[in-house]
Amino acid sequence: MSDRQASKIDPASGSEHVILPGATIGMVGGGQLGRMFAMAAARMGYRVGVFCGSSDEPAAEVAAFTVCGPLTDHSAIEAFAKRCDVITLEFENIPADTIAACSKHAPTYPDASVLAMAQDRWIEKTTLREAGIPVAGFEPVYDRESAIAAGESLGWPIIVKTCRSGYDGKGQHRLNSPDEAALVQWEGAESGDDGQPPWVAEALVLFEREASVIVARTLDQRVETFPVFENDHQNHILDETKLPANVSPELQLQAREIATRVAEHLGLVGLLCVELFVTPDELIVNEVAPRPHNSGHVTIEACATSQFEQHVRAICGLPLGDTSMVVPAASMLNLLGDIWEAAEARETLPNWGACLDTPGVALHLYGKHAARAGRKMGHLSAVGSDLADVSERLRLARERLLSDRG
Ligand code: AMP
Repeated sequence: MSDRQASKIDPASGSEHVILPGATIGMVGGGQLGRMFAMAAARMGYRVGVFCGSSDEPAAEVAAFTVCGPLTDHSAIEAFAKRCDVITLEFENIPADTIAACSKHAPTYPDASVLAMAQDRWIEKTTLREAGIPVAGFEPVYDRESAIAAGESLGWPIIVKTCRSGYDGKGQHRLNSPDEAALVQWEGAESGDDGQPPWVAEALVLFEREASVIVARTLDQRVETFPVFENDHQNHILDETKLPANVSPELQLQAREIATRVAEHLGLVGLLCVELFVTPDELIVNEVAPRPHNSGHVTIEACATSQFEQHVRAICGLPLGDTSMVVPAASMLNLLGDIWEAAEARETLPNWGACLDTPGVALHLYGKHAARAGRKMGHLSAVGSDLADVSERLRLARERLLSDRG
């Protein structure tokens, strides 16, 4: 703990656990989630230090200080942690001993057990099922034979996913029949340290739409959820998030209750996103991520408190903010590197002027230097009184990035 913060006790609650503005928050990870977190924290009067691979990463560019090194470099991590009053993270694949090294010097949230759960789909699904959270049927898979056995038990088609290191649909295959199990390269997927399987097979969920809920929880067990987001994916990557979700009030309440139960069951401190499939009559949890989430970016414009501010409040032990919407409708559209590539193919840049000429569109760019197809480079948000109108305006603004218009 830094000397400056060590002696401070919150006058309102008398709690030593409250990390007040002026303190230093450490963020492990330098991506866009860390960047938007740092911007929200700085607005609230905190200093944010970032630990990441290089000083030109998105979060490093807006941080008060940066310590660079690989996540396995414990002397660099400890030098960083000594400068922080509290530490958090923006992605879940951080080695447990790195988190342990951080927590020697400052409270670190979420803790290693929450990360261990989020790093492995097998541990995640068994943990959720034990907590009575609805998940799709699932079976362990090691090879072609066990994939076929899983399909026979769950019913074809099945979705097989690597248990570790998969995201945005990577390491994922839909198998329609036993024959298709021969098409997958089963070897090489990593197994968990405690003998967890390398793959998990899931029953195919016939969902009407996908949704997510973000929940925040403090050390003294206060919990708040955001309204339910509706998510449209393209090629397994989030494309648009709409608020409010087109989901019945009963299911919205259930979704927020599920998120609360997950956070309580895990003993979460910080922020967590629960991704859900919405079927005509029930909700099924797909996965959870113990950090800010792409679907929550819309809260910056749409809610009284953004997901990033809520994350700061939760790890600092402050009162959690009001999550209610401040507008009737809001939407967020991702900007992927494909747009930059398409512009480059025409020997030009994305047409920012035309995009920003669209009424009421907010531009968020993450400061990434290299654009690649599928890479999240930024997003657009808009709010209004009518969701269809808001969404249409955003699509127009995105299309204009590739227009010749002045
Ligand atoms: P994931 O990597 O688990 O987030 O999955 C990426 C996307 O694949 C999800 O957003 C869904 O669109 C689809 N998907 C994943 N699992 C299932 C499932 N069990 N049934 C139907 N679709 C799925």
